[in-house]
Amino acid sequence: MGKNGTHEGARGGGGNGGGGSGGKGFGNVGSGYPLAVRELIERLSGLPGIGIRSAERLAFHILKAESGDALALASAIRAVKESVRHCKVCFNLSDGDVCGVCSNPKRDRSMVCVVEQPKDLIALEQTGMYRGLFHVLMGRLSPLDGVGPEDLTIAHLVGRVRRSQEADDGDGRVRIEEIVLGLNPTLEGDGTALYLAQELSGFGVKVTRLARGVPTGSSLEFANKAVLGDAIEGRQVM
Ligand SMILES: [Zn+2]
Repeated sequence: MGKNGTHEGARGGGGNGGGGSGGKGFGNVGSGYPLAVRELIERLSGLPGIGIRSAERLAFHILKAESGDALALASAIRAVKESVRHCKVCFNLSDGDVCGVCSNPKRDRSMVCVVEQPKDLIALEQTGMYRGLFHVLMGRLSPLDGVGPEDLTIAHLVGRVRRSQEADDGDGRVRIEEIVLGLNPTLEGDGTALYLAQELSGFGVKVTRLARGVPTGSSLEFANKAVLGDAIEGRQVM
């Protein structure tokens, strides 16, 4: 978790040139560089999948780049940290209070697909086959890592369903009729799906789960469009 990310760094980002020891620790690599370059290499090597050698390559690329290009990268990083937040309805990434999916009047508001992370939502969106809304849990239950229901957005989801059930005809709100559990087909994803099915059982909503078109042990993020499309079409009642 340190800022120099040696847990990732030691593994390197490919093309590390062979050798076993690779870039272990930062101190023995960057001591000849000016301080600002060292700092840049150290920051880059903290990124997932980037080892010290890759970080050096990127740093030199940035040093050689046109000033405008390099600063555009810096300001893109700044913008993403300053302007992107989580949608207050579904926790998707958003530029404003409410994300593009939630604010789209063409979406089917009677259906909510629950996913672990915003990147899963994006993977499902790219299939173009799902027209409902989403709810991003911001993780999955993982008792061994100390992740419990209170660490996820489960209470928000239950509140969302409850409020929709209280909707009156004519007040503009749409009742949620179906919750599609789009959790990853892993042990923890399964456990989370089971927990959610129990939490949602008293509301009279249909709870379905994506069909196992998605291979067990993989992530929605990496499934191709056809597999995800099949999974949406073949969702099953839990
Ligand atoms: Zn949203």
